[in-house]
Amino acid sequence: MESLKKNYPFTAIVGQEKMKKALILNIINPLLAGVLIRGEKGTAKSTAVRALAELLPEREQVEGCVFGCDPADASLMCSSCAEKKDQGINLEVIFAKMKVIDLPVSATEDRVVGTLDIEHAIKKGEKKFDPGILAQANRNILYVDEVNLLDDHVVDVLLDSAAMGVNTIEREGVSFFHPARFILVGTMNPEEGDLRPQLLDRFGLVVDVAGEKDTARRIEVIKRRLEFEVPLQAAWGSEF
Ligand SMILES: [Zn+2]
Repeated sequence: MESLKKNYPFTAIVGQEKMKKALILNIINPLLAGVLIRGEKGTAKSTAVRALAELLPEREQVEGCVFGCDPADASLMCSSCAEKKDQGINLEVIFAKMKVIDLPVSATEDRVVGTLDIEHAIKKGEKKFDPGILAQANRNILYVDEVNLLDDHVVDVLLDSAAMGVNTIEREGVSFFHPARFILVGTMNPEEGDLRPQLLDRFGLVVDVAGEKDTARRIEVIKRRLEFEVPLQAAWGSEF
């Protein structure tokens, strides 16, 4: 059912103006280095991030490249695309929207950075890389819910990639790197613990969100939710 699942529209989110503005500003200029959204549960944090990606137009990317390289920018390409371009091989181009890549708090370091097949490197003399979350995140939004609960090792690799725009994997003397430029969006509930200062510094913008207190606006939130969900339930029955 995944492909049929519609995102709640960005423009239908009631209030939360600071959060919406911070997200839009990062889309306009990714050099703002991400947004940290702090607030209790039920403040449309995750909805807003997913809805934002939905608003964006499709852009070009190299077909078949797991890093989604930009065919127009050789300086930020992965080694495979850059090599093909150097050799004059035509890179097939497809159009695709920016995606929201989730980084679950339970993710291991390997899952985040990807893995190198050392045995393959030794036997065949070539690198075989199994991409991780940072590979998928290139040119996309990397969304970390409960970012304050991330494992320290994962925080370290995240900080390195965010700073360099490159993910480097080193195992037993073999190394591999690929572009990892992403818009970092983290959410956290401050009641569940603080964020490491180094990670907090990494976010360009921090916004605090709170649930809507005004009764009329709360009613509007519920009304819009129902209007969005009821037609979907009718169309898809109990599976939704
Ligand atoms: Zn590539």
